[in-house]
Amino acid sequence: MSGLVVDRELCIGCGRCVRACASGGIELVWEGPRKFAQATDACVFCGSCVDACPVDAIEIAKDGPASAGDLASYRDFWVFAQVDAAGHVLPVAFELLGRARTLADARGCRLVALLGEGPAAPADNVDALIRAGADEVIVCRDERLSSLDAEVFAQWICSLARERKPEVILYGATAFGRELAPGVAVRLQTGLTADCTVLELDPATGLLQQTRPAFGGNLMATIVCPAHRPQMATVRPGVFAAPAPDSERIGAVSEVALDAALTSRVRVLEVEPAHDAASVADAERLVVVGRGIGSKKSLPLMRKLADLLGAELGCTRPLVEAGWLEYRHQVGQTGASVAPELLISVGVSGAIQHLAGIGGAKTVIAINDDPEAPIFGAAQYKVVGDCIEVVQALVERLEAK
Ligand SMILES: Cc1cc2nc3c(=O)[nH]c(=O)nc-3n(C[C@H](O)[C@H](O)[C@H](O)COP(=O)(O)OP(=O)(O)OC[C@H]3O[C@@H](n4cnc5c(N)ncnc54)[C@H](O)[C@@H]3O)c2cc1C
Repeated sequence: MSGLVVDRELCIGCGRCVRACASGGIELVWEGPRKFAQATDACVFCGSCVDACPVDAIEIAKDGPASAGDLASYRDFWVFAQVDAAGHVLPVAFELLGRARTLADARGCRLVALLGEGPAAPADNVDALIRAGADEVIVCRDERLSSLDAEVFAQWICSLARERKPEVILYGATAFGRELAPGVAVRLQTGLTADCTVLELDPATGLLQQTRPAFGGNLMATIVCPAHRPQMATVRPGVFAAPAPDSERIGAVSEVALDAALTSRVRVLEVEPAHDAASVADAERLVVVGRGIGSKKSLPLMRKLADLLGAELGCTRPLVEAGWLEYRHQVGQTGASVAPELLISVGVSGAIQHLAGIGGAKTVIAINDDPEAPIFGAAQYKVVGDCIEVVQALVERLEAK
């Protein structure tokens, strides 16, 4: 059995482990006249208590690979459905349900959405998840889930996963998903692949093949988790297309309660939005500019085009590095993944790290003076020419309308 193991013969109940632990993962309990250290559910196996113990009474035991029989007892695909500040399910959850539906059908198993939300959340979240493909929604409404506290969510998901044994859990690679998923992985002692761009099933083994860029985006690495469960991955918003809602679909709803003993160590004093501008990740239309626009002085022209189209402005990484635009505008492997209906790419070469972020765009129009530019390989409409002249002409035409 994996976990934190305390040797009671050696433990002297000094409490140094408790003081060393940052996550409330160990406590002292009385047994008769003696005090002993004991792991709690909050343990994240960081090893601080092991280092702090003066008598070597604590160790972290790790499971070996699970047996084939044990692996076979895990079923179903789960998708964690994160909600936003207003309590609405984030688009990335629907995108994951769309992809997971195909994989679950191929695997012959069920698709389950996990919805943790505050008591005041909108009533239609469950229906929306079923319409997007979930066979079942496990919903927990509790005040402790109304703020995004990764520890509380991780403990909730872990207790469900231990009980119901999902084969796969997928998370959106949002800021919260990136905090939550590792917390679940470490508690369940399983693997996690971050920022996947492709999810497939290995036809021979049924394992989830989790593909993500590696070595600075120069190659794609396909990762599997053969000996531990659940298999877990995060996927950035915009990588998969959300399915069209099917209003005829029906699904089961399981309401579960949060363990009464589970307390949050985080107190949210105030919530400040990161910025007040709309996000490129959610934009329906995007004008994405690259180094080909020549200088920062061309930005007002590009913004004018974006405004006339009702679009957001995105950019390549060099523009962020040069300080022309803020990071929140960056599109690509280390920026946002985008999935607009229309993307106009202006003076962008189409490096692999940039293309990694625009795969979800429906229609791409690229403007570049180099007919061999790789961006043209990702575009349906190709304009070879000086991007300033082309954008000026476009702006004039749009203004004349
Ligand atoms: C680990 C790593 C992560 C990265 N992550 C990202 C990321 O998230 N997003 C990202 O964008 N990049 C990322 N990059 C950088 C990426 O490799 C490229 O360097 C970058 O995308 C190039 O930006 P660009 O197309 O603006 O510039 P360039 O590659 O310099 O291309 C400029 C293009 O403009 C064209 N051009 C020049 N003048 C004109 C003109 N007058 N009219 C029309 N066209 C013109 C040129 O022909 C050229 O094709 C990453 C790199 C690494 C190593």
